[in-house]
Amino acid sequence: VSHVHSSPFSHFFSVIAPVLCAPAVVGAGIGGSATAHFLRQHFGSEVQVDVFEKGAVGGRLATVTVNHNDYESGGSIIHSLNLHMQEFVKQLGLKYRRSVAGKTAVFNGEDMILEETDWYLLDLFRLWWRYGISFIRLQMWVEEIMEKFMRIYKYQAHGYAFSSVEELLDSLGGSGFINMTRRPLSNSLLELGVSQRFIDEVIEPVMRVNYGQNVSIPAFVGAVSLAGAQNNLWAVEGGNKLVCSGLLKMANANLLQAQVSSISPVYTGAVHRSRILATCNLGILQSGYKHHKNLYDIVVLATPLQASVRSGIRFQGFTPAFEELPGNYHSTVATIVHGYLNTSFFGFPDPRLFPFASVLTTETLDLFFNSVASVCPVNISTGFRRKQPQEAGVYKVFSPQPLDKIFLTSQSYYSVQVTEWQAYPCYGSNQGLSPVELHPNLYYLNGIELAGSAMEMSSVAAKNIALLAYHRWNRQTDMVDQKDLMHRIKTEL
Ligand SMILES: Cc1cc2nc3c(=O)[nH]c(=O)nc-3n(C[C@H](O)[C@H](O)[C@H](O)COP(=O)(O)OP(=O)(O)OC[C@H]3O[C@@H](n4cnc5c(N)ncnc54)[C@H](O)[C@@H]3O)c2cc1C
Repeated sequence: VSHVHSSPFSHFFSVIAPVLCAPAVVGAGIGGSATAHFLRQHFGSEVQVDVFEKGAVGGRLATVTVNHNDYESGGSIIHSLNLHMQEFVKQLGLKYRRSVAGKTAVFNGEDMILEETDWYLLDLFRLWWRYGISFIRLQMWVEEIMEKFMRIYKYQAHGYAFSSVEELLDSLGGSGFINMTRRPLSNSLLELGVSQRFIDEVIEPVMRVNYGQNVSIPAFVGAVSLAGAQNNLWAVEGGNKLVCSGLLKMANANLLQAQVSSISPVYTGAVHRSRILATCNLGILQSGYKHHKNLYDIVVLATPLQASVRSGIRFQGFTPAFEELPGNYHSTVATIVHGYLNTSFFGFPDPRLFPFASVLTTETLDLFFNSVASVCPVNISTGFRRKQPQEAGVYKVFSPQPLDKIFLTSQSYYSVQVTEWQAYPCYGSNQGLSPVELHPNLYYLNGIELAGSAMEMSSVAAKNIALLAYHRWNRQTDMVDQKDLMHRIKTEL
């Protein structure tokens, strides 16, 4: 629609005003909240963004309360180069939570095979002694991938969008990145010259704590996981989920506490719209808000659609028909125990001599947990210090199954909180990637998790979908799936 303003310049300029549209987002985790924020940014303040959430805002970013303090039970750490998360925290006036130093060890079911000390140079020497230069090769590999991945921020700042995860990855790292989503991490690392021993004793424990899986996961998500094992990590003071509620507020989004049960296409002339049916415990919501509002021009699904996640959404009337996506999500149980760590289990009968804040594990038959760590609350006061192992502290255990009662009763503890997550995709090396555009104006955010699951990945996908939806709506084909973007951006300046 073009309006001619009645200003002195109206003879020369016509202002293109975007056609108003009605967008809806399903899910208020970091992906959905960031999508609402970016939709508002691109479509302007006039549109109303409806966000449906069946549970708590934050989704897989959640806290549990133990002994009057809150602790992260889901997504907890953020890399210093995760620029969207950084920008959200800045815009929302939130604070970084300072990290409290603590040493890590690796346990193989019998012994600690790797122990961090207070001396950085000694640690480096030990790594070199045991694994040669594997760790330097690995560091360089991760840094090279991150450097390429960071191109996305430039592309997105210039408004470019991608219609599939493949296109997005290809623009960042060419076919190399796409291949990394298809081949096992262990193969890539062996090819790089990383030793098998380093893979078994260092890489495997990192995959187990971050994704509950082993080194056969694809190399791309493996690199995301290894980036999350570096030193420069942070979290949000007060809890990472504050970013989600903050973004919804900043976007002035209309939060509807309801479960979307079905989505169906509605065609009015050449226009594709989607009808959303949502239910809440007050009955069918449809009549709760004005009748036209359940008809949307743009719908973004910001929740995994695999059957094991049970989003409960049915897709009706689409041709070709589509249903839940193939594959499963991996079940990870986060158990937060307030009590005493049984350090004898790790070969330290005297807890006062146990110097570690986190213990990672190698893949060992009969080991029922992936990691155990002394955790800090989401609010850290200035005088805060980690509890010593001889004192009662708060520990987070990640395990594939709920912990056996026998394990828990052998501990001395005050409280136990268990969260069973459908945490991240079960990564096979040949599963392919999910589509972003399911139907005209119907977008799927969580396909990016098959490349790598992390808060920043969902945020990158959110920005991409908001841009894509905007360009599709305004028929700007020259901003989608463009090639050679690094060169183009340089010449645009
Ligand atoms: C134990 C654990 C540890 C992790 N650690 C880290 C970490 O340290 N760093 C990191 O970056 N990432 C980590 N992650 C991954 C990270 O938490 C996720 O990648 C990210 O939070 C996904 O956000 P999302 O918004 O895409 O999905 P979700 O957070 O899953 O949001 C989807 C939302 O949609 C809602 N929903 C579903 N169906 C419907 C429906 N039909 N109607 C209405 N609403 C619906 C759900 O209730 C949910 O709130 C971890 C995850 C887990 C579980």
